[in-house]
Amino acid sequence: MRIRSIITLVLAVLLSLVAAVHRWGDSSHAIGLMSLNGGKARHPSFLESGWDRYAQITTARVLPPYRGDVRVVLEGDPPLDYDIRFSKPVVDLGLRRLPDFRDDILYGIQPGDRLALWVLMRSFPTDPVCGMSVREGDLSHPYQGKIFFFCGDGCLASFRAEPGRYKDKDSPRGKYNLAFYDTRSGKSVLKVPLIFKGKEDSHASGGHH
Ligand SMILES: [Zn+2]
Repeated sequence: MRIRSIITLVLAVLLSLVAAVHRWGDSSHAIGLMSLNGGKARHPSFLESGWDRYAQITTARVLPPYRGDVRVVLEGDPPLDYDIRFSKPVVDLGLRRLPDFRDDILYGIQPGDRLALWVLMRSFPTDPVCGMSVREGDLSHPYQGKIFFFCGDGCLASFRAEPGRYKDKDSPRGKYNLAFYDTRSGKSVLKVPLIFKGKEDSHASGGHH
């Protein structure tokens, strides 16, 4: 049991290092318990808005008597482009039994399993004024070496009038969930809240940087 914990911890540390080396913008780590009656994350994950890419590592232990197949979904609005990787141990000592992971579903989860998932996220372009998802190719405007996209002339005009007010708002904000659902019952077995904080929120106590 203790060896399993150590392997999970080493795995999490290695993944954090990989995330840092690859400059995945902001990253965070969440620890959770997966169970029949909803599961629990130890605390929400906080990510700072303003990056293009994010990484989130979730490690979770499966509580008895839960067993089943689990679908993993990143929920939130506006939607993010994301990719979930299931981590196999770097060194397999034959101590861990691992479920199969295909198409965002963990197959054959059993009590006592320790899972490690790595979620890579990228934000779609967002209109910094109204927060709508927009497409590259829509109305655009360069500012300080960066291209911003807008849903229409009204939002573009607001941006031009006060770019400083909007320039940090074209990335995810607010609450998302990394949600785990039992595929048979549809019940949630774990929900990890992911909170994207605006720069002005996290710098609330300080001045300008
Ligand atoms: Zn707009």
